[in-house]
Amino acid sequence: MTVFNLNKAHYPVTVLGRGRRIGIWFQGCSIHCTGCVSQDTWDHHGGARIAVDDLLEWCKAVSASDRLDGITLSGGEPFEQPDALLALLEQLVLWRRQQSLDFDILCYSGFPYRRLAEQFSQHLKLIDILCPEPYVGKLASPLLWRGSPNQPLLDMTKRGTQALVGLESTASTRGFQVDVRDGRIWFIGIPDRGDMARMEALVHSRGMSLRGVSWNL
Ligand code: SF4
Repeated sequence: MTVFNLNKAHYPVTVLGRGRRIGIWFQGCSIHCTGCVSQDTWDHHGGARIAVDDLLEWCKAVSASDRLDGITLSGGEPFEQPDALLALLEQLVLWRRQQSLDFDILCYSGFPYRRLAEQFSQHLKLIDILCPEPYVGKLASPLLWRGSPNQPLLDMTKRGTQALVGLESTASTRGFQVDVRDGRIWFIGIPDRGDMARMEALVHSRGMSLRGVSWNL
């Protein structure tokens, strides 16, 4: 049984990939990009311990009576828990094949593509769309599903190519989701530069304040 550190999982996610998706955020990232808005995912000892098998059962349960267009794997840095990532990818692909499902798998990484190709070729064979490279805040611009323009959306399979057909690389459809859970507010999606500061100022102007924000820890 493979167990790993999970930051969170959510369904439906509609702002990180095409359609209605399951979002899975791995806990732990040593890359520490300047301007990262997900600093709550950095601590490798944070999050919750969960078995890959249990996470897969959750995926099946939440999508059982609804449409599932894709699965988005993010973090944190998924490739810093490579055994769990591989086990999860294998199980997702097996589930898709056995049930004749048609979802794509999109995976983010802050590592350069070259390093991923050299060290994790087995993983890459199971990913339909890969978004590699670290976030570079000073280059940030409104792009579809990405924070900075050095981060390509790479179609790794025929399914990935189909999922990207007809999409503009600039993000007229870029959006933001909010989820409130366990006394915390989760923002899902990729904010434009300055969005989080503007949101904090708006909250403050209404007599409230945010504690422990992940973009300014
Ligand atoms: S943007 Fe991604 S890769 Fe970069 S520090 Fe944040 S979680 Fe890590």
